[in-house]
Amino acid sequence: MISIGVNGYGTIGKRVADALGKHPDIRLVGVSKFTPDADARIAAAKGIRIFVPKENHDAFVKFGVQPAGSVDDIINASEIVVDASPDKKGVKNKEEIYVPKNKRAIFQGGEKESVAEISFNSRSDFNAAKNKNYVRVVSCNTTGLCRILKPMMENRDDIEKISVSLIRRGADPNDSKGSALNSVEWEANSHHAHDVQTVLGPVPITTTAFKAPQTLMHVHSISMKFREAAPSKEDIGNIYAKESRVAVLKTANSTADVIEKARDLGFNRNDIFLVNLHANTIVSGGNELSMAITVPQESIVVPENVDAVIAMSGLMNQEKSMELTEKILGMGNIKNKLEQAFA
Ligand code: NAD
Repeated sequence: MISIGVNGYGTIGKRVADALGKHPDIRLVGVSKFTPDADARIAAAKGIRIFVPKENHDAFVKFGVQPAGSVDDIINASEIVVDASPDKKGVKNKEEIYVPKNKRAIFQGGEKESVAEISFNSRSDFNAAKNKNYVRVVSCNTTGLCRILKPMMENRDDIEKISVSLIRRGADPNDSKGSALNSVEWEANSHHAHDVQTVLGPVPITTTAFKAPQTLMHVHSISMKFREAAPSKEDIGNIYAKESRVAVLKTANSTADVIEKARDLGFNRNDIFLVNLHANTIVSGGNELSMAITVPQESIVVPENVDAVIAMSGLMNQEKSMELTEKILGMGNIKNKLEQAFA
């Protein structure tokens, strides 16, 4: 049993805390919460212990949420902290809290690669996290790409070039600030290519990112060039049928379509956790292949955070950890139901 605290209770933190709380080998110490708000009430009602900055203690009590202790207390009581603070705050937390307290920590993809000893994706480099003190779970987009590219690289050693156009969601559904309403922004040579390389090594990848005014999911259009004939549609089906964190959807036509089915099928918070490979976008001819994937940004990194805890602790091997994490999150069921809906 290993004791884990979650520092930061937003989009990612609340999902990771729920997942850790269901793991038989993990004791969720609690979560740190900075603002007394409805999220704090809901967490408290679920029985999650809430730790707050000392100066906010009275405000939480007045709000009707009894803190279990201070942020200092949760860090002290945790063997590893999952830092789910906003972009670039994780590195500050590292410098100001984790390093002085000699505390191991897991960071998220909004932090630079230099925040940690390794960049982590369960399928790609689980074993590299063993005994590390600082691990970064890469972003939702990079996680999606690694889950797709790693199996392809294991099947083909003649990939000459990968270019990806990412259509990013402008904001999360709960974000009241949102993205530009009337414009699509773009960035050539976006950081995603390098981010993939932090996990997979020197893959020949370039990325262009577009930010679109929608909230549901990221969409990636992936083009690959091979030295020999590109894999056929059937080959692609065979490669990804074995991947427990990839759903192969044959008939979905939009992100709205996928999310609506997630709602209809009753997935908690609409969370899919998997990357969706859209078989109806696969075009293979000569040496070239193109296909599209969708990335459910709020949930895809949740299983990787759980696995990162297990990998750092050396509690289980990669296969056992991934299997158990998927069981806890019901990912087999989600994969089957989505694939059946879009058969
Ligand atoms: P969020 O804004 O939804 O949540 C962050 C939470 O941290 C908030 O509740 C905030 O009050 C709290 N917080 C503020 N200052 C803090 C501090 N100093 N220490 C600890 N907590 C603090 O952010 P998010 O979307 O959950 O993103 C968290 C991290 O996960 C970022 O690095 C982000 O890039 C990454 N990430 C986000 C997504 C996504 O789609 N939202 C996907 C993958 C990875």
